[in-house]
Amino acid sequence: MNPEDDKKSWWTKCITQNGHFRGVAIQATSLVEEIAARHSLSSEGRSGLGEALIGTLLLVSGVKKGERINLNIRGSGIFRQALVDAYPDGRVRGYLLESEMKEGLGIEAGPWGAGILSVLKTQDTEGEQPYIGNVPLATGHLAKDLTFYCLQSEQIRSAIGIKVEVKGDRVIAASGFLVQAMPGASEELILEMEERVNNAAAFSEEVGGHFDPTQVLSRLFETEPFLILEEKQLQFECRCDRNRVERALLLTGTVELESILMEEGGTHVTCDFCCKEYHFNEQDLKGLISQTKA
Ligand SMILES: [Zn+2]
Repeated sequence: MNPEDDKKSWWTKCITQNGHFRGVAIQATSLVEEIAARHSLSSEGRSGLGEALIGTLLLVSGVKKGERINLNIRGSGIFRQALVDAYPDGRVRGYLLESEMKEGLGIEAGPWGAGILSVLKTQDTEGEQPYIGNVPLATGHLAKDLTFYCLQSEQIRSAIGIKVEVKGDRVIAASGFLVQAMPGASEELILEMEERVNNAAAFSEEVGGHFDPTQVLSRLFETEPFLILEEKQLQFECRCDRNRVERALLLTGTVELESILMEEGGTHVTCDFCCKEYHFNEQDLKGLISQTKA
């Protein structure tokens, strides 16, 4: 095996030959570790962020080029919120906020607890309305709640599995799969598929860090022939830059900027997604203030 293979994160997309099901499997250990390492999170937090990243990638694997998925989960469990952005070309970024009080939270409800899962689908094309789907967190387990979202909001029967393993502060395994029924798949075929997926659910235990997407799809589809549609490398990318941060600062208005200048003499803004810091000194602030007055 090529040693470089260890560092790769990718998805494999397929469709069954009869056109009744589509599937995608993701190996994202290195990607989740890379993103989690940017944030100071507990080991549970790393695992929660990994789940949210993989869940969003699974959803975005089915959208058209030019669209973007933003997953926003607000929970009452050990995680307070996760926000993830992803594109169908495999770019992703995200962050997670942990609950300050972890004691006393019922773990039977799942790590995300109760709350709301929102999926925002936007398009690059001007004038296109964004699509927003909201579902309550029914179980507090992300894979199950995403399955519910697909059914409730998009009327698509799906099976989703997500697995993230963290040892100390390192992500040692992160993977997931999604199988969806296509229009025209009969109830009988769907039930058969669901049973196969449930039977295969234990497989993620054994594969762990060596999760191979194509092998996993073969396990899920068993004797059903399928065609590989795409194998794509996944990568972290944050779109923040100084111009965007400046625009955000300008929106705070003259009064606020003047008070920052008076009291602090400068400021810095940290991007929630990548943790990059943008510094603004006295001169920068004066420049921004004169822009707000222009
Ligand atoms: Zn950023």
